[in-house]
Amino acid sequence: MKRTSPRRQQRYLLRLLALGFMALGIVACQKQIVPEESCNFVQNSADQRVSWGAETLDFYIHESVPSEYYMAIHNAADTWNEVLGREVIRIEIEGVAGDINDRRDNVSMIYLMDTWDNDNLREQARTSVRWRGTQIIESDILLNDQYFNFSVEPKTPLYYVDLESLMVHEMGHAIGLAHVEDDQSVMHPQLARGEERRLVSDLDIESLTCEY
Ligand SMILES: [Zn+2]
Repeated sequence: MKRTSPRRQQRYLLRLLALGFMALGIVACQKQIVPEESCNFVQNSADQRVSWGAETLDFYIHESVPSEYYMAIHNAADTWNEVLGREVIRIEIEGVAGDINDRRDNVSMIYLMDTWDNDNLREQARTSVRWRGTQIIESDILLNDQYFNFSVEPKTPLYYVDLESLMVHEMGHAIGLAHVEDDQSVMHPQLARGEERRLVSDLDIESLTCEY
C-alpha cells in the first residue's frame, strides 16, 4: 500500500479547497432567479412576469389594416396609457409596407389577415409576444379578417366585433397580460359580437401595478 506523505496530503487538500472556492464563485456570479406571483401576467419558464417594464412598446400598423381602423387602434392604446400613467404603447407609423409573414424581427406590428389558420376559426385575433428574460422585445397583433367583420361605429352593430374592444384586449396581451375569468375584465377571453368592453376594469388596473 502506498503511503501519502503529509505534505502531499496538504497539497491535495489545498487543491480541493481551491476548487470549492471556484465553484462558489461561479454560483455567486449567476444572477439569482426568483419566481414571482403571476398578477395575471404571462410568465417565463422561471415563473417571472414578462412585461415592457420601463421600455416603450412601439407599434407599427401594417398596410393591410385600413385607415378607418386607425382611430380605434389609437383609442385602445390611449386607454392603456391613461391607466398606466405614461405612454407605454406608442403608435409609431401607419401603413407600413412589407411581408405579412415577417414576424420575428423585433418590430411590433398590427396586421389584418385575410386568411386564418383553419384550426382556430373562432379566434377573432391573436397576439404573439416574444421576450428575453423578463423583457418583452416584440408583440405582434393579427386580426382575423377572414371569419369576422370588425366595426368602428360608435354603436357596434349586431354580428360585428367592436374593433376598439378587441384592440384593448389584444394590447393587454401585448404589454404582458394573460386571460382572466372575471367577465368585467378586458382580459376575459370571450368578446361576443356586438359587445362593447372598452374600459379597463379595477382588476386589470390592480394587475398592472405589479409591473408598471
Ligand atoms: Zn386573448
